[in-house]
Amino acid sequence: MKPTILIVEDEPAIADAIQYALETEGCDTLVVFSGAPAPALLAEQRIDLIILDVGLPDISGFELLKLIRRDSTVPVIFLTARASEIDRVVGLELGGDDYVVKPFSPRELAARVKAVLRRSRPESAPPAAASSSPSAAASVWRVDEGRRSIAFHGEALELSRYEFNLLIVFLRKPGQVFSRDQLMAQAWDEPDASMDRTVDAHIKNLRAKLRAIRPDLDPILTHRGVGYALREGL
Ligand code: CA
Repeated sequence: MKPTILIVEDEPAIADAIQYALETEGCDTLVVFSGAPAPALLAEQRIDLIILDVGLPDISGFELLKLIRRDSTVPVIFLTARASEIDRVVGLELGGDDYVVKPFSPRELAARVKAVLRRSRPESAPPAAASSSPSAAASVWRVDEGRRSIAFHGEALELSRYEFNLLIVFLRKPGQVFSRDQLMAQAWDEPDASMDRTVDAHIKNLRAKLRAIRPDLDPILTHRGVGYALREGL
């Protein structure tokens, strides 16, 4: 089945170029030129990934993602004209899966789309997700890798792709300390394209989600100057 990609981009020339590149790669596409129609489209039909411009006429892409994330974990790739690192980290902290800085090559964007789709599909999960189930205490963590869902103390976590990948890495080896490089290598498709701070941003987000369920527990331990580990014996 062809993946359906929603393109939210107000510049028609850019939207056209993306649409052409994606359809050449075997995707179905939908294009909207503002943010307003996006939530209804998501509710009405299957959308496998959203390409979301940050600078939209009616709402910022970041604000729109916050709305989308209330109901959906659909993967999102941001398009941004501002290359500043703050924008990147903020975008990913909100639960984006990747970003591309304008100007960009539509073919490169299509390759990113395919990488994110690969990661979000159970039959071709990332290498780290290909081995056996995590051995962590089943009563605390419940993992369904096929559905990419993890429950913590009985409550399903709403995780972005990278948060999910990171938590899976931890759950396979509770207690093991992972450096940021190791986490990036195991949870990201293109480790070189990102930075250490991105790992920190996702860990911060992950902790907040776990704390929302059990404020008394802090399952992710920081080992200063080394990295992070999952607390054993919860
Ligand atoms: Ca724009």
